[in-house]
Amino acid sequence: MRRALWLLAFAGCVETDLAGVDRAVVVHLVDIDDQGTGHYEVAEHQLPELADMATLAGTRVAFVGSPTLDFGDDLDADSVLCPPRVGVTPSALDLRAAVENGVAIPRDERSLAMLSAYHELTLVLARAEEVTGITAEQFRDGPIPVNFEPTFVLGDARDDGKTNAFYDNCTDSFGLLRPSSVEAIRLAYDAQVLAHELGHAYFERTFRAADGECDPGAPGFPGRFATDDTIAGMNEGFADFFAFVLVGALAPLNDPLGINEFSGERAIAPTVPNYEAFTGLAPDCSQEFYCIGTELVRSLYDAFVADGNDPHDPAARAALGRDVLAALPQLPAAMRGYADLPLPEPGLDQRACKRIEDGGSVPQFLRALLEHLPAARRPSLCTAMTHHFAERFATAGQGVCP
Ligand SMILES: [Zn+2]
Repeated sequence: MRRALWLLAFAGCVETDLAGVDRAVVVHLVDIDDQGTGHYEVAEHQLPELADMATLAGTRVAFVGSPTLDFGDDLDADSVLCPPRVGVTPSALDLRAAVENGVAIPRDERSLAMLSAYHELTLVLARAEEVTGITAEQFRDGPIPVNFEPTFVLGDARDDGKTNAFYDNCTDSFGLLRPSSVEAIRLAYDAQVLAHELGHAYFERTFRAADGECDPGAPGFPGRFATDDTIAGMNEGFADFFAFVLVGALAPLNDPLGINEFSGERAIAPTVPNYEAFTGLAPDCSQEFYCIGTELVRSLYDAFVADGNDPHDPAARAALGRDVLAALPQLPAAMRGYADLPLPEPGLDQRACKRIEDGGSVPQFLRALLEHLPAARRPSLCTAMTHHFAERFATAGQGVCP
């Protein structure tokens, strides 16, 4: 017993003061090959814009360690309105690392994940400025919270959640969930996944901000597109598109989850195995509104290549990103102006700001996007959209091209 206590005390001595340290061993995405496979290294890197490593507080992101996110007990899961969150109770970050030659060496997997997530997320946030044309100041006043391994409380139920990462538009924060055995690399620090989640933050600031907060009683029904499941699909497709323009992701779920039917349904590029079976022209895509979004990003990708661009050219990808980002805030008003936009009927769930399936705004979204992109991008994109949407989403293929 005495010996065991001594060993515990000795283990404690390994912990080292992290004050002033800004380099760490992290997992870093180096590049992505033509097959969509990411290549990662475990190496020393500087953690950019870091104020304090012990709390992972930086200029762009602020980590919150294992918080409890309490949604109360009256959450309506179908509502698009933000729930009255009762509280966020953070725990200590508990970053365990030793310092050797000025470099933090993580002492457990959780600390490696935290340091890696900070590094990769900060890099994609910095890169987003070029890809969006939106400055860091315009993006957010102050760092964006990152809830690391949160626990969700809903009434009496607690859920620790794992194998995912998310962006929460209601609190404008990220969540990075716990690991599981199905992950070859953790979603929590895979730059391709983090770039996807950041895409949701930009969709929120562009399309969703222009759409407005859902208010069924106000003139023009602001926020009505938030009720439309197909627009949720476009949001997902845009997020995959964002991961493509930001880091060159072609199959963002292949690395964490392996090459299989599930990841293949979300793959972008035609060189990825399983693409032919899951082009969306096949009738068996299982991921519901995500499948619609995948056809959007495949359309944008195919047009990008058809116009002679190299998917490995970051500048060409960024130019496309800026064009799409500039178009997004203009789409809700344009879509409202179309005579064929399906209108919600009074009394339907839409009128109560609830999510409904098959809202059917896909043709209007595609047409508005085409009309608000530079003219030079339209012919190839129209051809690609017709290919990807015409058969599976029959009505979506009609009236899309100018
Ligand atoms: Zn998503």
